Amino acid sequence: MRFAIVHSKLIPDKLLTSPEITLPISSIDQIPFNQMNLNYSYNIELQQQLIGKQLLLDDLAFPIEELQEHYENGCLIYRKGISIEKNKPACTRCGNKDKHFFAHFPCSRCGEDCLYCRKCIMMGRISACTPLISWTGPTTLWEMNSPQLSWNGSLSEGQQTASQRVVQAINENKELLVWAVCGAGKTEVLFQGIDTALTSGKRVCLATPRTDVVLELTPRLKNVFPNIQVASLYGGSEDRHLNAPLTITTTHQLLRFYQAFDTVILDEVDAFPYSVEETLQHAVRQARKQSSSMIYLTATPNEKWQTECLQGKKEIVTIPARFHRHPLPVPRFQWCGNWEKLLKKNRLPQNILQWVKKRLDANKQCLLFIPKIDKMEKILPLIRTLNPNIEAVHAEDPKRKEKVMAMRNKETPMLLTTTILERGVTFPNIDVAVLGAEDRIFTESALVQIAGRVGRSWQAPSGEITFFHYGKTKAMIRAKNKIVKMNEEARKKGLIDY
Ligand SMILES: [Zn+2]
Ligand SMILES: [Zn+2]
Repeated sequence: MRFAIVHSKLIPDKLLTSPEITLPISSIDQIPFNQMNLNYSYNIELQQQLIGKQLLLDDLAFPIEELQEHYENGCLIYRKGISIEKNKPACTRCGNKDKHFFAHFPCSRCGEDCLYCRKCIMMGRISACTPLISWTGPTTLWEMNSPQLSWNGSLSEGQQTASQRVVQAINENKELLVWAVCGAGKTEVLFQGIDTALTSGKRVCLATPRTDVVLELTPRLKNVFPNIQVASLYGGSEDRHLNAPLTITTTHQLLRFYQAFDTVILDEVDAFPYSVEETLQHAVRQARKQSSSMIYLTATPNEKWQTECLQGKKEIVTIPARFHRHPLPVPRFQWCGNWEKLLKKNRLPQNILQWVKKRLDANKQCLLFIPKIDKMEKILPLIRTLNPNIEAVHAEDPKRKEKVMAMRNKETPMLLTTTILERGVTFPNIDVAVLGAEDRIFTESALVQIAGRVGRSWQAPSGEITFFHYGKTKAMIRAKNKIVKMNEEARKKGLIDY
């Protein structure tokens, strides 16, 4: 779209009544904005859809005339979808500045060879002539009937300490890293903090990289906050326009928010590949209000985070023990020789076969992690000679959900899996092994997460975790050390009884 500036107002070319010089929005130096007209009767539906958001014209089912009227009355702003400084483009929505992620196309909206961002294209194309639209008009506060929280559970000692720190960070608009071991019960640690935020009229966002987690957390939070609206956002979800006090979203959908939240809770910070971290940081920065709090949750903070915490640059609270007061299972390393070579001859290392057999004989369910899908497909028939009901699962598996369910229902004795099941899933009483733990895909954080699948329930608080390898890696050693250290810390603090 092209705009002209007439009487210090931005006017879309379609609405011009006289011939003017028009430009794509990114070529306009200063975009004029208007003072809010307090007497203007704005469209409440538009307000609800646009509060705290940054959307494209295509995202909004309102005529341009109506949007323009709201702009002229100071209720919305147009921002440049792509800003160009010193000849270098930057995408306003996703923060992309990498020239490899920009391309040109012949644009029918501005009639020019238009530059667009490839990095966030799956959320609708942003190009040099695209305005990003946000609400600047009146905002309504939530009406809260306190108390909000309806939960009768109790917190462990470790959870209690962390919960208090979360409340404090939210009240003081600060940042806090909650480092909780796998199985510590981190969601419960948030309840009090979210409640505090909601009762003081704050808008809360809980963001996580994976849709699975959004789907799992939504009913849990609706359950403990039954009197409020909870928006659940992921690709294709129906709550897209729901303006709720509590939003649970994939980090991806966060890109549509602008100065929306007083409190952002970012779950599984460690689950991001390094390459998307910058986009994520940008998304979080944009989605937060200027004065806001930020809670990061992780079981495996990366090096950078750990150093920053040690140096006191970041506030941190740890939950070193699980809620059931048993220590974390410590991985055992077992050399299994050149298993890939053996696999080419359709054979498996003896100690792995023994490991599997022992569990099948004892009727104990188990997971075997394998670094690659093609390897897994070769291993499956070999292992099935021990029991034909053994299954294998990977990320693109159309029967993924059914297979996980069958494992939960104890219909499957054993599941072979790629890293897809490294986090998020809980099977009550299992042993876990990794085959080829030396593979690069098994990072320190992946291995800690995998070990964290064992011994999660009250009924079965222990279990075995074995790393079968063809040469120890730094990641393996670090993962083990980290688990041992957490157990030590928990013992020192009196959080473990066994
Ligand atoms: Zn972008
Ligand atoms: Zn264009």
